[in-house]
Amino acid sequence: MAKDFWIGEVHQGKYDDQEIELKGWVHRTRGSNKIWFIVLRDSTGLIQCVIKKSVVGDESFDLIKGALIESSIILKGTIKSTEREHGYELQVTNAKVIGPVNPDNPFPITESAMLEAEGGESEFLLDNRHLYLRTSRMTNMLKVRSTIFGAIHSYFRNQDFIEYQAPNFVAGAVEGGSTLFEVPYFGKKAYLTQSWQLYAEAAMPALERLYTIAPSFRAEKSRTRRHLTEFWHAEMEIAWASNDEVMKYGEGVVRTAASKLLEERESELNELGRDLSLVERYADNPYPRMRYDEAVEILQSKNVEIEWGQDLDYSKEKILTADFDLPHFLTHYPRIAKPFYHRPDPSDQKYVLCHDLLAPEGYGEIIGGGERTWSEEEILERIDEEGTPREPYEFYIDTRRYGGVPHGGFGLGVDRICAWLAGADHIRETIPFPRDSRRVTP
Ligand code: ATP
Ligand code: MG
Repeated sequence: MAKDFWIGEVHQGKYDDQEIELKGWVHRTRGSNKIWFIVLRDSTGLIQCVIKKSVVGDESFDLIKGALIESSIILKGTIKSTEREHGYELQVTNAKVIGPVNPDNPFPITESAMLEAEGGESEFLLDNRHLYLRTSRMTNMLKVRSTIFGAIHSYFRNQDFIEYQAPNFVAGAVEGGSTLFEVPYFGKKAYLTQSWQLYAEAAMPALERLYTIAPSFRAEKSRTRRHLTEFWHAEMEIAWASNDEVMKYGEGVVRTAASKLLEERESELNELGRDLSLVERYADNPYPRMRYDEAVEILQSKNVEIEWGQDLDYSKEKILTADFDLPHFLTHYPRIAKPFYHRPDPSDQKYVLCHDLLAPEGYGEIIGGGERTWSEEEILERIDEEGTPREPYEFYIDTRRYGGVPHGGFGLGVDRICAWLAGADHIRETIPFPRDSRRVTP
């Protein structure tokens, strides 16, 4: 039952005048009692197929004519180049319906339903997400996503990083208690992990350069354009590295993802309506750096209400990045704005040695990272000043008791970088089955 021929290959001109067999799904149909046109879809593209009653016979003709949109079919025939829309067509000699669609229950994702939904965010389309995945918009997005995952893996592996896995059930918070998902755990409480970081730091003295791409879970109560409750998190940790050095990797991985997209996904990005010159700019140029204090001044000059010491939330990042032409690193946040594992700046203890990478066009934060607190003394001081209980972090503190070294790392939101590079309005568009505070189905 293997599949030997792909529509994408037909359009590359591989099968001119040859007899081949195409397997796929009915995308569109039209015709008469004598001739029937099916636009066939497979994972690589669309092709028009012409079925004549005089060629395939009455019985086959009636059966294939009854194949509704999204029926799976097999068509055998000859490939001819045409002047028409798709460049090539299949002149069918033999047609078979494999998985029919019941006329009482036709495929619900119609063009009018899509138009009403303006890009796939209606409740109706979210309820039918399992079927919506087959639309060209979602297929293009999933291919873009796959290229980005591949780019991240190859970027780190090419530099001898080791892929390392951390547990998903954990006892402590990384990003603060308010977004912790609690799960019953045999009479005790456990949480779903918010980040791989603390467990990666434990392996830092073993592997020195490590990375992962894994899901992280955060109970984000408010629904925004850039938060999911389950998202894909690319994280790295590196020994003997300063905040500056860690930023180089962040810039490197993001630029690699942008240039891989240009190499592999030009047509998908075009179909998604993305301006490719922007993606090129993000691939080709170094990313400027700015201190937190400067960002606060810019915001204040735009009459945004912000006090020194506050973290920047989405509403503020959106305003700040609206006129950026490139991603910018924001560094040196106030110590009081960041969790205990961020290392205070030895030259001015009011700040920590950290960075967020903010994407332009109003997208905002895609990376959060920095140097880690690495001496036992400093980490205890930071935990206590934050009022965090020591107990769940005993293992983490313990790693500092045996040969602590300077190190750092970052977390990159993979769904966020997909949304930004593909130009999606909403993070939900980038993931097959989005999870947020209102939805865990389908
Ligand atoms: P935000 O302020 O936007 O909530 P954060 O500061 O909580 O982000 P970090 O803890 O630094 O984020 O996480 C590292 C990266 O993971 C972020 O830069 C972002 O790209 C991604 N990320 C964080 N939370 C989410 C989420 N709920 N959904 C999707 N991606 C997320
Ligand atoms: Mg957050």
